[in-house]
Amino acid sequence: MTEVVLSETLAAAHARLAAALHAAGRDEHAAQLLAVSKTKPARMVRDAYRHGQRDFGENYLQEALDKQAELADLTDIVWHFIGPLQSNKTRAVAEHFDWVHSVDREKIARRLSEQRPEHLPALNVCLQVNISGETSKSGVSPERLDTLVSAVIEMPGLALRGLMAIPAPAATLAEQRAPLARLRQALEALQKRYPRAPLDTLSMGMSDDLEAAIAEGATLVRLGTAIFGARR
Ligand SMILES: *Cc1c(COP(=O)(O)O)cnc(C)c1O
Repeated sequence: MTEVVLSETLAAAHARLAAALHAAGRDEHAAQLLAVSKTKPARMVRDAYRHGQRDFGENYLQEALDKQAELADLTDIVWHFIGPLQSNKTRAVAEHFDWVHSVDREKIARRLSEQRPEHLPALNVCLQVNISGETSKSGVSPERLDTLVSAVIEMPGLALRGLMAIPAPAATLAEQRAPLARLRQALEALQKRYPRAPLDTLSMGMSDDLEAAIAEGATLVRLGTAIFGARR
């Protein structure tokens, strides 16, 4: 496979995001790009950084820690953990990331909060919601979301920033939008209930459904393939 030219794919991703925001009648700064660099080498992350990208998403802990060590000179990178998270990995995630998007259980949240080093600001957290039903094993069910929120919002090591979802693939724009709309409505309900919480983040939209996600209010779109090329 020929390697992508990151200056071009990043510019195209920014143009695509800007067009989607414009079409949705939203401010041009209302959503940001999270570059999902899983399976891609550190030198591609460095290249994207050189072209202005700062927020990067990783799914696999050891791979991410290796890249972070290699890129330690880039001190203003913002690292987001977006993959499934087991208990035995929480300490390293609490110590080495700025955000976690995939929190779906109280036990995991509590460990992250307790293990967050005191010299660091609170760990930014999105709760992953299983918005399409059975198709995914990850994510808290919509019925259990309120209970999880009421626990997480009290945890001193965490800043609850919003919600994340990975909807089931859908063929049409309308079918893509339906679950994304449910995630937006869930966040709006939380914002009403907790008006002083920093609940400002809707992490949704990937390479195949960015336009649907922006139409439904996404504030952080997670693009992998569109920026770094296909994964093996
Ligand atoms: C891999 C991944 C992405 C990026 O997906 P693309 O389709 O390559 O853009 C986004 N979010 C999560 C949680 C992922 O695991």
